[in-house]
Amino acid sequence: MNDISKQNIETLVKLQEAETEIVRLKVVLKKVEKKKGKLSARLKQFGNALEENKENLSSAISVCRDIEREIQMIDERIIKSNEKLRMVKTNKEYQLFLREVDDNKKRKDALETELLEFLDEKEKIQEIVLETEKEYHLLRDQIKAEQKEIEKKSIDDRELLDEYLARQNEIGQTLDVALMNRFEKISKMNNGSAVINVKNEVCMGCFMNVPPQLYIEVQRGNSLISCPQCSRILYYIDT
Ligand SMILES: [Zn+2]
Repeated sequence: MNDISKQNIETLVKLQEAETEIVRLKVVLKKVEKKKGKLSARLKQFGNALEENKENLSSAISVCRDIEREIQMIDERIIKSNEKLRMVKTNKEYQLFLREVDDNKKRKDALETELLEFLDEKEKIQEIVLETEKEYHLLRDQIKAEQKEIEKKSIDDRELLDEYLARQNEIGQTLDVALMNRFEKISKMNNGSAVINVKNEVCMGCFMNVPPQLYIEVQRGNSLISCPQCSRILYYIDT
């Protein structure tokens, strides 16, 4: 019985070593993912701004096209009015068509001024789009390189995590199922810490005093003793 308990404690300590590393590495890798996610979000935000600029450009283009089309229509109207003007019979008709031509010419002048303004605006937006596009590509390359670098650095940690997971699994198989369940339950309660040493009658997990009688039992190592405060399985190293 004593030997089994001592063996169990040794196994549990090894299991805890793996568990501690697993918890640590998972935190590290989670941070890596978060960092990568942040970079992606930054790129996406910039991409959205670029899209918005492109939309502004396409609406500016369509405004210019509409004005150009209207000018064309007015040109046709002027031609028609001029034709009618050549075939008039009365002075009244003549005055009417002349006025028609005049009105259309005035409208055309106004539209041409408007068009120049919009063409100017369009050109400005076009420059902004080109500039944003250039910046976007630079940022994209930079972020991709950064993410690759982060990923490269985390490869070792990922491999290490796999190793510890395998080790944990291996050790777990040598343990009694009930004991393994107990370990997992306590580990969950204490952020991955289920087995801890006691030093000078203090549990090194929760730093509370362990009652003297219990401390003696832990020192003997004949049975698995849990800390009354944090439930961690306690062990004693003779130093
Ligand atoms: Zn404790």
